[in-house]
Parts: sequence; structure tokens; C-alpha cells
Amino acid sequence: MESKKIQIPMLATRGITVFPKMIIHFDVGRQNSIQAIENAMINDEKILLVSQKDAKIDDPKVDELYDFGTVASIKQILKISDSTMRVLVEGEHRASITSYEDEEEYFLVNAKMYIEEESDVEELSNSTTALLRVASELFEKYSKLNPRVTKENIYSILGIESPGPVADLMIANIPLSVYEKQQILEELDEEKRLYKTIEILRREIEILSIQKDINSQVRKNIDKSQKEFYLREQLKIIQDELGEKDGVRGEIEAYKEKLKKIKPPKEVEEKINKELDRLLRTSPASPESGVIRTYVDNVLALPWTKSTEENDDMEKAEKILNEDHYGLTKIKERILEYLAVRVLSPQVSSPIICLVGPPGVGKTSIGSSIARATGRNYVRLSLGGVRDEAEIRGHRRTYIGSMPGRFIQSLSQAESNNPLILLDEIDKMSNDFRGDPAAALLEILDSEQNHSFRDHYIELPVDLSNVLFIATANSTANIPGPLLDRMEIIEVSSYTEPEKIEIAKQYLIPKQLKKHGMKKAQLKINEERLQIIIRGYTKESGVRKLERIIASLCRKVAKRLIETGRKSFTVTEKNIEELLGIPRYHYEAKSVEPQIGVVRGLAWTSVGGDTLSVEVNTMEGTGKLQLTGQLGDVMKESAKAAMSYIRSKAAELGVDPNFYKNTDIHIHIPEGAVPKDGPSAGITMASAMISALTEKPIKNDIAMTGEITLRGRVLPIGGLKEKILAAKRAGIVKVIIPQENKKDVSELEDNVTEGIEIIYAKDMTTVLEHIFANDQEV
Ligand code: ADP
Repeated sequence: MESKKIQIPMLATRGITVFPKMIIHFDVGRQNSIQAIENAMINDEKILLVSQKDAKIDDPKVDELYDFGTVASIKQILKISDSTMRVLVEGEHRASITSYEDEEEYFLVNAKMYIEEESDVEELSNSTTALLRVASELFEKYSKLNPRVTKENIYSILGIESPGPVADLMIANIPLSVYEKQQILEELDEEKRLYKTIEILRREIEILSIQKDINSQVRKNIDKSQKEFYLREQLKIIQDELGEKDGVRGEIEAYKEKLKKIKPPKEVEEKINKELDRLLRTSPASPESGVIRTYVDNVLALPWTKSTEENDDMEKAEKILNEDHYGLTKIKERILEYLAVRVLSPQVSSPIICLVGPPGVGKTSIGSSIARATGRNYVRLSLGGVRDEAEIRGHRRTYIGSMPGRFIQSLSQAESNNPLILLDEIDKMSNDFRGDPAAALLEILDSEQNHSFRDHYIELPVDLSNVLFIATANSTANIPGPLLDRMEIIEVSSYTEPEKIEIAKQYLIPKQLKKHGMKKAQLKINEERLQIIIRGYTKESGVRKLERIIASLCRKVAKRLIETGRKSFTVTEKNIEELLGIPRYHYEAKSVEPQIGVVRGLAWTSVGGDTLSVEVNTMEGTGKLQLTGQLGDVMKESAKAAMSYIRSKAAELGVDPNFYKNTDIHIHIPEGAVPKDGPSAGITMASAMISALTEKPIKNDIAMTGEITLRGRVLPIGGLKEKILAAKRAGIVKVIIPQENKKDVSELEDNVTEGIEIIYAKDMTTVLEHIFANDQEV
């Protein structure tokens, strides 16, 4: 490369590096710079442009300047103000400073100028051509990423076929640090210069494309949030137009207000806030927002901190219990005991009482009365037919239409966290493939676990430990064992007729009169008439039907009073039928006189006790045993057992020993409509058969119940109270019952056994001693 020594004024540029062939204008304000230009103009309009190492320095010293620059020719000067001028220059040749001639007024330097000649295309080596192509490709790519490179620049650069100038112009178009540009400027080897340029291009392309990615990502985010903002604003306007003042936000505010008022445990508050945040983020029209709302409503409806003041005044409690129910002394006592314990140690966990007894004896209604007496809110939760665990524990929220379980629902219904929950018909629960509801119930009733019961839907621990649970059941037989173990069973038995009369007089009639807006004096009914009603129109252990009949009586009487204008109405034997219709039930009365082959048994059904007569006919035949009258299997077995007994004792009993060969026996139990089953008619059937076979009449005022074994032993039976009451109702004066039931009789109230003689039988011999009409009493 050719070089030339020159003396030339020098100008320090700040932040720009001028390359040969580059045309650029810049403003000059520094005094010594202006002087340098003026001097240059006097000579040949050439000036050496050298970069300051640090652009911030106003008055750079020699060592603060690079010593390599570009000789440029000044093309134009424009005076902008007194102290500033704008110059347009075109870079020509590289030059390195060899010495400073003057640095006082302005810089005047001696330099070596390098004159680079444009190479001949033909002479380019393959490697140079390759470098040129790579550089062009990259520069094109670069200029696509950097829109500041103008098209003209691109074409003019791509048109050059010389590596040095190409590198210079490309670098001039890339924003780089002064230092980096200086490196290129100082590179005299053209190929090396181009090579360095390619490296820089590569790096810059990489940086630019990353930058672009970042930018587009950011823009996307901004676009999205802008879009959302815009849509929300629109929604607000729509909601305003529709009169839904504050839309979702308002709703959330309202929920938050409610939350503040309720002051639930922290965990609950956090959960609700989380859900509300979610609500804000979901579109109000989406099904999800409905699900969230329902959930929040359900959680907020729970009585987290609300409780009622419990009553610890025993006298008041006793008064309330007596006010509502007649009798039921055992339950009332138990409740008062519970209250007493509670007063002494409030922390004690509540017992789970289970009231067991036939329908209509007041199990449910005493529940609400206990709630009143103990100062608790009352909720009835019917478990009859519950077969799915989810009904107890709720469905997870992922299910469509999921709901909290029954206990959580009951608790919200109760509106306090210490209510009395009556678990009605706990024995009617069943289980199937959907899980065992009894197991879930166990957890709820367990005082160790129920202070943090988790419902699948609510997903938050709920304290059930302050709830007083009372369960009801018709019989303990169907209550799962583990559940039964947890509960304290209190039996509620059927009412006797006198009790029913008292309940009607003291409770049911006043209650129904009040309900029908009538006064006590307007309906006159005495005990005898009540008895007629009880006997003819009801057949039940409890008083549910009786209450309904009394209600209907009240309605009819009210109508009569208005029609006739009279002040009061007296129920008489005659007008009962007019008012209530023909009596539905006729209790079997005792037979008028002793009969052969007819014996009265005592039966127990779900509606109470009843008597049933067993009839036996014998006839010549081949020893067949026929049974008719809707008998169950157990009863048929009993008949066969009785038959065996008779055959084995034929001689002793005075029966023809060959009766099983020449006699057919037909046993019939009338009132066939009611299916009968159970072993307790055993001794009755045996007695009737013996009577028929020996043709000895049986007393008409005796009745019996007991299971028979093959050898004639008499085994105990259940439902004693109901059976004795039924016997009395039928006018029976003497009943035979198994010896082993003696202890049950001792537990009966006196008025049940009053007026009836009870004979305890260990075996058939004792039975037979008492039943025949013509025998002398022993
Ligand atoms: P259960 O739950 O045992 O089937 P309910 O509680 O439904 O019986 O009772 C039926 C009706 O009989 C209720 O109106 C109840 O008030 C009334 N009742 C039952 N027993 C008594 C009683 N001892 N004193 C007053 N009313 C009673």
C-alpha cells in the first residue's frame, strides 16, 4: 500500500468515527476545532479527523486522542450561530499521526497517510471473493433487522467489489462503540478488516434477532393487557347501561364486606379471597364464574363464628320439655342429666342419643323440644334412603352441579354452630357401590374427629364439635354395629290406650284447636269418646294418626259451628260416625264362649300389638298339614315344630297316636290381609291343634304368646308391652307368656299390667294346665 507523509490540521471528533468514503456532517463548536477547519480551508480543504477516546471530555489532551484517523475533505460549511458551524465532510484516506506540530491554538500534526487502491475484480482471490459474498449476505440480513440502514446504502455497499472499502462502509452503518470502530479503522490489511467485519455482523445479527424476539414478546404481553383493559372498560360501560352498577367488582366488594362481618377463621378468609381473585379473572359469562359464586355463597352461609346462647337453667328446661310432651320420662331425665353435666363442665363432648321406637311416638318432635330446652337451633336431617357417601360428605367441586353434603347444608340451615341436629331414621340408611354413608357418619359423630370435619365440596375444616346430635330409629336391628356402639340408645315404647287419651286431652286437642283458630270451650269431648276414636279410627303404636283424626275433627266441628251458629259442639257416640265416617278398625273381641280348636294368640307388628286367633280343623285323611292365611316361613316352621311335639307326646296329651296317619290338620289364621311372620305363635298353634285333636274347648278369655321347640319348651318373645295392651283391648283377662320374659314384665309400668293375670310358662305342660275350659284351675 502506498503511503505519504503529510502535515495537516486535525480535529477531534466526539463519538463518531469517520471512515474513508463516508460522507457525514457534524457540528463543531470548540474554538480550536473551528480554528483547525478555518486553517484547513485556507490550504487544501483537507482535515484529519481523529476520535476522542472519551466523548465526554471537552478539551482533550494528546494522550486522550487516538493517533489514527481519517483524512477527509471539507465539502461544505454552514454557520449555525456565532459559535457553531456545521461541516459536511467526505472521508478519503486512513492516516496515522507521527508527531504533533502545534497543539496550542489548534492541532496541527505530521501524519502518514495510507492510500488504498480499489482492487481489480479480476484479480480477487477466491478466498477474498468468498469473504465478500459472506459479508454481503450477512449485511443484507443485518439490514433487514435494522431498519435504519437505508436501501441506497445497502445497494451502494453491495456494489463495491473491494474488501477494504466494503468493510469500512458496512462498519460505518452499524452502531458500534467508538473503540470497536477504531479497531477496524486501524486495520490496514483489507482481508483481515473484512473478516473482523463479518464477525461483528454475525454477532450483531444474533443480538438483533434476540432483541426482536424480546420485543415481540413484550409487545404481545402489552397487546394482551391492553386488549383486556379495553374489553373490561367496555364491559363496565355495558354493565352501567344495563344498570348493573358495579358488575363483578361490586359483587366482589359485597362479598368482602360480608367476609369482614362474619370474621371466619383465617384459613377460610384466605380461601375466599383466593376464590374472589379467581372470580375477578374469569369471564362473568363463563360457567366457571357461576361455580365460584355458588362456592363462595355456600362457604359464607356457614355459621363459622355464630352460636346461640345455650340454656343452663335446668328448671326452665324441664318446664319446656313437659310443656311439649306427655310422659317420655326417660328421655326427659336423660336430657336434664346432660344439661347438668354441661353446666358443671362445659367442655365435655356431647353424647349422641339415639331414640328408638315405633313411628309416631314423638321421637322427632321431642328433638325440637330438646333444642328449645337447651337453647339451640333445631334442624332435622333425614337419613332415610341415603345410600351414597357423597350425600353425607358432599361432591368434589370438579363435579358438575356439585353440592356440599347434608351436614354442611344442615349447618347453614341452622344458622349457628351449636345447633341440635336430629338425624332422623338413622336405621334407614343403606350402602351401595358409591361408598358407605355410615362410615362417613361415624367420623362426624366421633368427638375426636369432628372438630375439623372436611366436606369434599367445602374443602375447609368445619367444627361440628358443638353440635348436639340426636338420632332416631325404628329399631336397632338395622343400625350398623360401629355406629350403634357410639350412641346411647333410649327406647321409646308404644303408648297405652290411657296414655294416648292423656296425650290427646293435654296436647293434641289443644294443639289442633289452636291451629284451627278455635277455643277450648268450642269442642267438647270426653275420655270415652276419645277411646272410641282411638279404637275405631287408629291402629298404631304412636299418636300420629290420632293427631290427624283430631285435626280432621276440628275442621269438621269448625264448619258445623259456623253453619249452625252455635257456640260449642259436643262429640257424642252418635255423631262420631257422622263426623269421621264408619270406623275403620274392629279389634277382635274375645269369643263369646269357649271353642274347640280356636286359640287367641298375641302378635306384634310395626303398628303395635294385636290379637289374632288361630283356628284348627281336623278331618279324616292321610296326615296332611295344611296352612292358610298369609303365613311367613318362620310361622310355617313353627307349625311343624308344634306338630312334632304333639306326635312325640301323643299318649300323654290324650291324642290318638295314629293321628298323623289318619287325620288331616288345617291351620288357618284369619285377617289374611296382613302378612304375619315370626315364631311367637308357636304355643298358640300347638294349643289349637291339641284342642282340635282332643276336642277339648279352650277358654275364651285367655291369650298367649311364645315360641315352641320340638320338645315343648317355651322360648321368649319380643314386643311384650304392645301384646299385653292388645290383649287388654280385646277383653282378655289372662295371658300366658314365656317364663323368660318375666324380667321384661317387671320393667313395664303398672298401668300396663293392671287388670290382667299373667301366667309364666316354661314348657307346654304349664300352658296346657291353664287353657282348657272344663279343667279345674290348678
Ligand atoms: P316419630 O318421630 O316417633 O315418628 P313424631 O315426633 O312425628 O313421631 O310424633 C307424631 C306426633 O305426635 C307429633 O305431632 C308429636 O307432637 C305427637 N306426640 C307424640 N308423642 C307425644 C307425647 N308424648 N306428647 C305429646 N305429643 C306427642
